[in-house]
Amino acid sequence: MSYDLIVVGAGPGGYVAAIRARQYGAERVAVVEKGHAGGTCLNVGCIPSKALIASATRLEAVRHAATFGVQGVDPAALGINVAALMERKNKIVTMLRGGVEQLLKGHGVELIRGTASIPAAGQVVVNGDTLAAKNIIIATGSTWRTLPGLPIDGTTVVVSDHMLEWQHVPARLLIIGGGIIGCEFASMMQSFGAAVTLVEATESLLPGEDLVIGRTLARSFAKRGITVHTGTTVEQLETTNGAAATLANGTRVEADRVLVSVGRKPYTEGLGAEALGLLNERGFIPVDAGMQTTVPGIYAIGDVVGGMMLAHVASAEAEVAVKNCLGGHVTMDYHAVPRPVFTTPEVCAVGETEKGLQAAGVRYKTGRFTYAAVGKALCAGETDGAAQVYTDENGVLLGGHVIGAEATDLGQQLCLAIQQRLSVEDVAHTIFSHPTLSEVVKEAVEDAAGFAVHKVGPKRP
Ligand code: FAD
Repeated sequence: MSYDLIVVGAGPGGYVAAIRARQYGAERVAVVEKGHAGGTCLNVGCIPSKALIASATRLEAVRHAATFGVQGVDPAALGINVAALMERKNKIVTMLRGGVEQLLKGHGVELIRGTASIPAAGQVVVNGDTLAAKNIIIATGSTWRTLPGLPIDGTTVVVSDHMLEWQHVPARLLIIGGGIIGCEFASMMQSFGAAVTLVEATESLLPGEDLVIGRTLARSFAKRGITVHTGTTVEQLETTNGAAATLANGTRVEADRVLVSVGRKPYTEGLGAEALGLLNERGFIPVDAGMQTTVPGIYAIGDVVGGMMLAHVASAEAEVAVKNCLGGHVTMDYHAVPRPVFTTPEVCAVGETEKGLQAAGVRYKTGRFTYAAVGKALCAGETDGAAQVYTDENGVLLGGHVIGAEATDLGQQLCLAIQQRLSVEDVAHTIFSHPTLSEVVKEAVEDAAGFAVHKVGPKRP
């Protein structure tokens, strides 16, 4: 009997697709996984990195405990137990991985362990068997990449996979690449005691976002003692007795370890995607708005299709692909994607950027509110940061960002408002709890129309 759907890859794209397919009525569904259920996100990405970042955040909180009148903490004696930290992280990963496997089973999805290839539409070969499938979803994800002159040896010159398994904190860490992963590791490793130097080729950190975000983050990093070089590249890297890098701006950086975080590339090894004509010149699998590839009956989702390479985007694309596999006609809507960054301070941008609006010639209004004017932020000692939003001329929210404590959660409020195309009036009529950090979002939105209560500005029209 043929499968209604075979999904290749059990990351947040693939396992969500398989479960959704069963929930939406597909009878026979399988997901093929060559590694671990949960994919990059659960095993070497989002989850392990955030488990370690949680330890870094606790360490920072204890370090500053005296400010809150807490006695008995000797900052000089503070440190980390790497073995305990790693054990905690591994436990979380193992628990969640088991959870995904149980969920697949509970939903009646067959989990086939092995490497899949696709010789033709409707066929998946795994462990020597050819399986027939009405539809196939490719969710094979991505892997790390490097640049010429930066060979990865796994000890001195490493990628994020290695960093998640470190055994000790390097005294000096050079990070090449100031995107999300580079910034998150810079923030975490500095908290753990490494002297971090971060090098980014473009003019600011987090290059996809508005300049104001990267610059604000760079300022916070500098205050914390992280050395940031933007607008320059590593010209030469020597790796005898540690590492020594020469930057294009002439600076020489010595380090005990170098993290290369210069982006990720699509993973399609052994899949047969090239023979089917599925790949573009950059190795991604292009899809239409309904997530279908150029071959009818073969869909692709997640990192392998490119765009915003985020776990929740992969899961959202899964939803669309599955509905279409089962006869629907839906398209992917990217207008309100949250883009969280788990640094200290946290960052979350959603929807349109200011540079995107300007490039498109859209007339917009800006609202901004700082953490320093929010009571809860003051109580929590978290006064660094701000929320900024953009609305159209009718006050409908188009985009925005939050930088500061809990920004990755606060950004979700913006996300809901932007997704639902709410206006300033809609948000103003919503009651926000007091005192909470979320008031920074409400007041930033109100400020776009000039009537934030806790900000002096022009009268409400
Ligand atoms: P993946 O999760 O990569 O899963 C693909 C799966 O397919 C893998 O398990 C692989 O083994 C399997 N596979 C590949 N080829 C085959 C084959 N031929 N046969 C069988 N199986 C195959 N995103 C966020 O949203 N938030 C974060 O905080 C975040 N942090 C990150 C931190 C790090 C260090 C990294 C590296 C990434 C992070 N990401 C984060 C990105 C996120 O992990 C990815 O966007 C997400 O995992 C993509 O999901 P996916 O399903 O497309 O692919």
